[in-house]
Amino acid sequence: MRSISIFGSTGSIGQNTVDLILHQGGPAAYRVVALTGNGNIPLLARQARALRAELAVTADPAQYEALKAALAGTDIAVAAGPEALVEAAARPAEWVMSAIVGVAGLAPGLEAARHCDTLALANKESLVCAGPLLIDTCAAHETRLLPVDSEHSAIFQALQGEDRGGIERLLLTASGGPFRQMTRAQMAGMTLAQAVAHPNWSMGQRISIDSATMFNKALEMIEAQVLFGVAPEAIEVVVHPQSIIHSMVGFADGSIVAQLGPPDMRGAIGYALNYPKRRPLPVDRLDFAALAQLSFEAEDPTRFPALAMAREVMATGGLAGAIFNGAKEAALDAFIAGRIGFLEMAEMVRAVLDELGGAVDINVNQISLADVMRYDTLARARAADWAAARV
Ligand code: NAD
Ligand code: MG
Repeated sequence: MRSISIFGSTGSIGQNTVDLILHQGGPAAYRVVALTGNGNIPLLARQARALRAELAVTADPAQYEALKAALAGTDIAVAAGPEALVEAAARPAEWVMSAIVGVAGLAPGLEAARHCDTLALANKESLVCAGPLLIDTCAAHETRLLPVDSEHSAIFQALQGEDRGGIERLLLTASGGPFRQMTRAQMAGMTLAQAVAHPNWSMGQRISIDSATMFNKALEMIEAQVLFGVAPEAIEVVVHPQSIIHSMVGFADGSIVAQLGPPDMRGAIGYALNYPKRRPLPVDRLDFAALAQLSFEAEDPTRFPALAMAREVMATGGLAGAIFNGAKEAALDAFIAGRIGFLEMAEMVRAVLDELGGAVDINVNQISLADVMRYDTLARARAADWAAARV
């Protein structure tokens, strides 16, 4: 029986993963080592019962008693707090889903990379903040790293059987988000509710806002560079509003291989779950006669400055990704809290990069988890200073 753990099981990716596990036999087919969540204790407890998990962990220590009460009468072990997440990641499992949102997923993901056979990675932030560290940890422990982000899954699928030396460019598709056709002036007034209303994909709140600013695509450019080891110049973004082509690889001979499917994350999650096999998935099938059109547009650097920032961060390397991500997470927190406007998210990140991006020791090749967390904290502090100073 295959052993699995799901970090962030109560989130959008986590719930889709649980659905697929149940669809593929549930506890009769899988030994579920650990499930983790944060605030949604009723859901975490329901999942743990349905999958007969051995351990359920909430990241929030204040929720320990609530989780214990919700699982009373079962033999499911309960734990709470960030250290408990890392301990859960040290429990060996053949397949681990890393789907915590934000840099909070880095420490458990790194620990899981030391103890599992296959790490299915949805948490793109860990590659942005600590790409070489995660890649090296996987290599040292012979852990297979499989991308779950739809674009990177598409590229990975397009590269099956190919010699990576033949890659000329990676074309990341972007929906353009809910504000694709707005002017900057219109974007300035956009609210939280408008920013989370993604036209194609149903996702967690934070990544949905990141899609509206295109910070999500910026993170994905860095993610692609780390995962596939290409030069930053080889990574292109093409706006494709229908989200049917999930991304493409252009080869040295001018040929392009694309991966297509409905905009449903269960496709990419299921691919990572069943790799190298393919099994039937409960997703819609594309009907090409019914697809009115597949269209494409160039990226707009004026309205979406995040993409140029990603190119800068890739050129610097080292800890620039940790600074970029930390500032981006702080900007998101401030926007969600109503402290800054939509366009100010990019201004805040820009200001932090300008201030810290030239720090002498950020361009280091050997980075540690402690370094990453230090620069994450520093970036958040600078972002808060910027917000306080601007009024
Ligand atoms: P979500 O907000 O729906 O869920 C996040 C999960 O992380 C939940 O289980 C939550 O309990 C947990 N969590 C939140 N804060 C935590 C903390 N401080 N410590 C520990 N756990 C915490 O997010 P999501 O949309 O499922 O995204 C998860 C990850 O997958 C992100 O890195 C995101 O960028 C990536 N991703 C998501 C999608 C998507 O379709 N949702 C697509 C591609 C990539
Ligand atoms: Mg994506």
